Amino acid sequence: MIAFLALLFGLIVGSFLNVCIVRLPRGRSIANPPSHCPRCRTPIKFYDNIPIISFLLLRGKCRGCGEPISWRYPIVELMNGLFYLWIVREFGLGGEALLMMAFCSSLIVITFIDFDHQIIPDVISLPGMLLGLSLAPFFMYPLTDPLPFHLGRLVPHAGPYFTALLNSFIGLILGSVPLFAIGWIWEKLRHVEAMGGGDVKLMGMVGSFLGWKGALLTIMLGALTGSVVGVLLIVLKRHKMEKVIPFGPFLALGALVTVFYGQDIISWYLGTLHL
Ligand SMILES: [Zn+2]
Repeated sequence: MIAFLALLFGLIVGSFLNVCIVRLPRGRSIANPPSHCPRCRTPIKFYDNIPIISFLLLRGKCRGCGEPISWRYPIVELMNGLFYLWIVREFGLGGEALLMMAFCSSLIVITFIDFDHQIIPDVISLPGMLLGLSLAPFFMYPLTDPLPFHLGRLVPHAGPYFTALLNSFIGLILGSVPLFAIGWIWEKLRHVEAMGGGDVKLMGMVGSFLGWKGALLTIMLGALTGSVVGVLLIVLKRHKMEKVIPFGPFLALGALVTVFYGQDIISWYLGTLHL
């Protein structure tokens, strides 16, 4: 029952995420006007706006003019629904799960916007940083506890709240500064923009949510998957070297893997180093 409600909640939020993906990069309001067909402008009735089900009933076409509806809409809804289901299984019910839901949904929106427009809107990443920082002390997400040893010693009597806040803040810095530095150096050397400011701010947000270990793991996973896909695309000649591949989706993927498997990966990694 709880699983079903989580899925349902995720589908409904997913429907809203579709609106964000289409409207945010164009600077349009996400509240007004109500959803309408992009071709015939007919407002979509509530019974035609039920996640997934309406798409299937309408066979992917607008009721008014028959314009095909993008497959992306039900896919985003389903993705978000399944993530919420997974989060509830992993984190139980409560504030921590809600925070992770907000985090995952933001990453889904960022991924699709970055794919389409090669931008990551500040309207998501900047409030995201603040949210991560301000709420980190109140949630005990597993990756948010341990600090680097010497930092733990620097503040020996810090309570768990302060430690979590510090971890979130270090995550923000460790996530964003390396990307900023790489982008800056690359720009000096090659005179082309390599790392968008959007990626830097996205990683600030990821770090504030996942702490310093999570931030570093996310960058590693993002760089790894990004370069594998990049090389594959070049080998398959689907891509020109000069064209920029958006990095945001890979960072988002890395962050999502970190949310669910970060603890396991880090323990495994430290284990192989006999630490
Ligand atoms: Zn239409």
